[in-house]
Amino acid sequence: MSKLILEIISLDKQVFNDEVDSVVLPTEEGEIGILPKHIHLVTSLAPGEIKIRQGNEETVLACSGGFAQINPDKAIVLADAAEHAEEIDEQRAEEAMKKARETMAKKDIKKEEYAAAAADLRRSLARLKVVKKRKSKRAYR
Ligand code: ATP
Repeated sequence: MSKLILEIISLDKQVFNDEVDSVVLPTEEGEIGILPKHIHLVTSLAPGEIKIRQGNEETVLACSGGFAQINPDKAIVLADAAEHAEEIDEQRAEEAMKKARETMAKKDIKKEEYAAAAADLRRSLARLKVVKKRKSKRAYR
């Protein structure tokens, strides 16, 4: 079966570079699944999960947003931030979520402040989802 090279680069490092069977990316329109031989595509990414399949193994990363360029044999993800579950500081994400919710609940909040807090909230929720998924997988082992 043909494979896809997946390269994920965040602002400060290369996060992933390997052959994969498929990858699911979070976009503003929802998740898109990329298989080898996908048509050329450039898309922006939303905060969410990047799900990588290699055989029976699934790797899930939290993504803060960014861009992806898809070619038939290679997908390049330029992420604002991308973290494996074990790299995520759960408490920091919980605090970011709480702070964002408090800001969004303020009265007379400026539109821009609300939008920034909503973006913070989405990033923190993406991180917490990845952490929780890993914990629940461990529980079934
Ligand atoms: P916070 O509000 O907690 O500062 P943020 O959502 O503003 O987080 P980003 O702008 O997405 O953070 O990322 C900035 C840097 O901090 C990136 O290198 C990212 O990997 C790291 N980072 C942010 N939150 C966490 C977390 N909960 N655990 C581990 N690394 C994190």
